[in-house]
Amino acid sequence: MGQLDIFNNEIPLNKITSKPKVLSKYQRWKMINNYRKSSDKSQICKTCEYHISGKYRTKFLHKCNLLGLSHSSATDIKVFNVCDLFIKEF
Ligand code: SF4
Repeated sequence: MGQLDIFNNEIPLNKITSKPKVLSKYQRWKMINNYRKSSDKSQICKTCEYHISGKYRTKFLHKCNLLGLSHSSATDIKVFNVCDLFIKEF
């Protein structure tokens, strides 16, 4: 038993998600600023003006000053990603 899609195919009820996905403010910021894996190795978060990093307990963390800082992994960034706000660090 399921629900029919527009092509009359049956979709099992357990595959249908009833709730729309709610993004956190950090996820929205990343989506709006096109945060993505970089194809250009000279333009990555690691070489950006806003990149900050440091050791916290046993982990080495990378954060973005524009995205903001939280005490969770929500604001972690990947060093080989980039967004549209990239500015080359001097
Ligand atoms: S490229 Fe974007 S996400 Fe990465 S450090 Fe710079 S401003 Fe932050």
